[in-house]
Parts: sequence; C-alpha cells; structure tokens
Amino acid sequence: MTPSQALTDELHWAFQGMTHNPPRDLDADILRVRFHSYRPRIRGPHAERYACPRCFLHHGERHELRSVSGTDEFDLLACAGCSNEFVIPFE
Ligand SMILES: [Zn+2]
Repeated sequence: MTPSQALTDELHWAFQGMTHNPPRDLDADILRVRFHSYRPRIRGPHAERYACPRCFLHHGERHELRSVSGTDEFDLLACAGCSNEFVIPFE
C-alpha cells in the first residue's frame, strides 16, 4: 500500500467518525469540502512528503508527516500538529 492510499483511507475513517459524531465547532459543509480537497502528497522540491489527514480535516491545515520508525512490514509516520501516528503497510 502506498502512503497516499493509506493516508486517504485514514481520511475516510476520520471523516466517517466525524459524520456520525459531528464536532460542535465544525460546520458540516466545511468538513465535506475539506474531505474532498485533501491531497496526501505535499508538492515541493523534496520527494515523498505527506500531509496529515486529520489536521486537514479538523483545521484545514497541511501538517507535514515525518517518518518516526518502522519495520520490515510497515512505516510509521507521525504528525507534530496533532500527535497522531499513521501506519503505512508496505503490503
Ligand atoms: Zn496532524
């Protein structure tokens, strides 16, 4: 699974959760627009940079994820903005 796929899956899960249990301070239309406009890749001179799906959904902010650790089977990306960690399975 590519990081883009894994992060987009994460976005779907987070969006579903927020749809079932809407945050009081976030308008449903804004949430929907963010959901559809999220792009996992951050464009720039450096390859393989990714944006946190949760920070984008909650705040509309593109926080860059950093690789913190991993194994033969997955990579682990962490967000400095929300402290969430995302598992990126290689398979
Ligand atoms: Zn984040």
